[in-house]
Amino acid sequence: KDHMTQLSKPTGNALLENAQNHMPLGVADSYRYWGENNTVFVKHTQGCTITDEDGQEFVDFRLAYGPIILGYRDTRVDQAVIKTITECGTISGFSTALDAEVIALIKQMCPNIEKMRFANSGTEAVIGAVRTARGFTGRNKIVVVEGGFHGLYDEMMWKSDVDNWDSSTQNAPQITSFGTGIPEASREHLETVPLNDFAAIDAVFKRVGDDIAAIVIEPILGNCGSIASSQAYMQKLRDMCNTHGSLLIMDEVKTGFRVAKGGAQSLYGIHADLTTYAKAMGNGYPVAAFGGRGDVMDIISFSKKGVTHGGTYTANMIALSAAKATLTLLNETDAYASINQAGADIQALLSRVFTKYGIAHQFAGPDSMFGVHFGDEVPQNYRDWKKTDSGLYTQFAHNLIKLGVMLEPDSREPWFICEAHKNVDLAWLEATADRAMAEALNT
Ligand code: PMP
Repeated sequence: KDHMTQLSKPTGNALLENAQNHMPLGVADSYRYWGENNTVFVKHTQGCTITDEDGQEFVDFRLAYGPIILGYRDTRVDQAVIKTITECGTISGFSTALDAEVIALIKQMCPNIEKMRFANSGTEAVIGAVRTARGFTGRNKIVVVEGGFHGLYDEMMWKSDVDNWDSSTQNAPQITSFGTGIPEASREHLETVPLNDFAAIDAVFKRVGDDIAAIVIEPILGNCGSIASSQAYMQKLRDMCNTHGSLLIMDEVKTGFRVAKGGAQSLYGIHADLTTYAKAMGNGYPVAAFGGRGDVMDIISFSKKGVTHGGTYTANMIALSAAKATLTLLNETDAYASINQAGADIQALLSRVFTKYGIAHQFAGPDSMFGVHFGDEVPQNYRDWKKTDSGLYTQFAHNLIKLGVMLEPDSREPWFICEAHKNVDLAWLEATADRAMAEALNT
C-alpha cells in the first residue's frame, strides 16, 4: 500500500514516525497502515467528511468500514449519549432498563428476532452466535463463504487460498491462515465454499452434513465488493440447514441496519436462525449484538447443556444509549430514503465517468453499500472478483484520495453511504471522479 507517495503529509508523517516508537507499524489496527508516506491521521470528523492532521478535508465513503450510517458527530445521537453519561454513568456491572428497551426496538425493525444478547464488537457477536449454535446443535462444524469476513478470532482467521490456486486442477484450494499465531487446531471445524456455487454446498453437506452446526454467511459480501448471494442460493442454504438440522447464521455486521431496516435478510425475505449486528446499530459507538430464534438463544443458560456468554463491558450504557438513539432515528425518520438516493446518484455519476472512458463496469450490492467492479460481468463470488480489473480500481481510488475523496483503495471494500452524504456536491464529485479516472488511465 506504499505507492500513493503523493499523499505524503508533513504532520501525518511525523506523527507516524513518533507512533512507531510506541506501536507496531505505528498504528492501532494493522489495516490503518497505508505505508510510510500515506498513513492517515484524522484530526476531526463531521457529517460525511474527515479532516486530516494536515488540514485536508475528504468526503468519506469509507466511513470507518461501515459504522457511520447517519453521519459523523450526529448531535442527535451524541446528545443522547452525553445525557446518559451525565445522568446515569457508564457501567455498573448490573442490568439497566435500556437492555430490553434496545432489543424491543430491534425487534420492531427485524421481526424474526425473538431474543438477543449484546457484545462490544462484530468479532464478539460472531463468537457468541457461533458458540450458541454449537451449544444448541451439539455439533462443531461451521461453513463459511470465500471472501467473507467474520472477525479476528482464531477460527475465522483462515481462508481458502484461491490466490495461489491452480483452478485447472480438480483439487480444492488450500486453506491458509491470516498470518501466524493461529493454531492449526483452530481450523479443524471450518469448511469453506465459494458463494453462489450450488454444487459446492451440496458436496459439503453430503460429506459432513450431520456435523454442521451452522453456515455463517454475510448475505451480501461486505468484505468482497458487496457481491450478493442470489435469492436462489440463499434459499438453498435455508433449505439445506432445515434438512440437516444445521443453523443459518447471517453475519449482518456490515449490512444490518444499513441496507434496510430489517437488514439484508429482509431484502431476501429469508430468515436466519441467528443474526449478528454491530457497526450501523450505534453510528460509530462500539456496540454489537446477536440473536434470533428464542429456542436457540435460550441455550444461553446455567443448565448442564447451557452456553456461557457475557462480558464486563457488555450492554454498557454508552453503547446502548447510542444504539437506542441511532435505531430510533433509523426507524422513525426517512434516513434510508436519503441514504439510498445518495447511493443511487453516486453510482449514476460514476457510471457516466466510466462509460465516458470506455470502461466496462459493474455495481454490486445495495445503494447504501455498493461495490464497484471493472469487468464485463457482475462477479458472483471471490473467484470471479479475482478476474475483475482491481488494479485499475486501486489506481482510480488513489487518485480520488489525493483529490479529497476517501475510500479504501481495494475494490473488496464497498462504498459506504450515510445520511449526511445527501449534502455532497454531486457535480464536484463527478468532475473529481472524471479527473481521477483520466489520470489512472495515463499512468
Ligand atoms: N463480521 C463482518 C461481516 C465484518 O465486516 C466485520 C468487520 N469488518 C466483523 C465481523 C468483525 O467486526 P469487528 O471489527 O467489530 O470485530
